[in-house]
Amino acid sequence: MKPATQCSLLAVATVAVSLSAWAQGIDYAKIEILTEKVAPNLYMLSGSAGADPGHEDAAGGRIGVLAGADGIFMVDSQYAQITDKVVAAIRKISPEPIRFLVNTHVHPDHTAGNANIVKLGALLFAREELREELSRPPARAGNAAPAGDPARLPVVTYGLGDPVKLRLNGEIVDLIPVRAAHTGGDTMIRFENADVIMIGDFYRNYGYPFIDTNNGGTLKGALEALDLTMKMAGPNTKLIPGHGTNINRADIIPYRDMILGVQAKVQQMINEGKSEKEVLAAKVTAPYDAKVPGGLLPAGAGTSADRFVSMVYSQLKGGK
Ligand SMILES: [Zn+2]
Repeated sequence: MKPATQCSLLAVATVAVSLSAWAQGIDYAKIEILTEKVAPNLYMLSGSAGADPGHEDAAGGRIGVLAGADGIFMVDSQYAQITDKVVAAIRKISPEPIRFLVNTHVHPDHTAGNANIVKLGALLFAREELREELSRPPARAGNAAPAGDPARLPVVTYGLGDPVKLRLNGEIVDLIPVRAAHTGGDTMIRFENADVIMIGDFYRNYGYPFIDTNNGGTLKGALEALDLTMKMAGPNTKLIPGHGTNINRADIIPYRDMILGVQAKVQQMINEGKSEKEVLAAKVTAPYDAKVPGGLLPAGAGTSADRFVSMVYSQLKGGK
């Protein structure tokens, strides 16, 4: 083997290692799909607990299924390895064809099954930014599934303008673009008649917030997205995050306050000239740790609290 070839093999191995940070130790065979009915023809599908170390409480990202005679409208596609189980769960709800799929954001626990679902006949919608993020070569952890099957890419894309509206199964579905929040290509999906909004991952109640700045997410955008959610939601609107338990409007307030509290503390330490290491050592999330389940569990290099504080530090340092 020539030295050059060895070099490139090494490079491939490095990429594979960083990507596997997402998929580390996921026991796909163990994942079961649990179905929850949230409105007469709207269902949420979640992976079972204890099979996905990155999401201990429920494997992968939550899927939405709007069923009826007009065909199935689906939100997010989960891990590719469990598409068969997802489709089996959908078939228990409805025999109609899967016609539409939309992605809330680029992460593989929400998009890796795209190509499988598209090959069943679905038309894939997402933000233009998400398409770009998904097309990029997977250079580091935080990026999407490996480049490959073009069927994984959105066919219909939209920007930051008015919501895209779909009318089917007696429902009006709004695809609401969100400015750079969890990622650069987030979408919230509102079901007007059911009074349900799937809000994606800029809110989470298992672990501290994750804002993927490698994929265009911003702290400021995440706070704006929370404000937008509070503006759109009534007191009884069901808000369904990509992970964790369902919430309503009132639950956003303490979450937003926690982010603002940590942000203020980190800003104060930056003003005092403290380094990122010193800020991390100060454990600024301590007042909130008891109320954030999974907050001190490992997430990547450190805990999700450390990951969150590092992100806040670098966003504030960068003037974002
Ligand atoms: Zn995500």
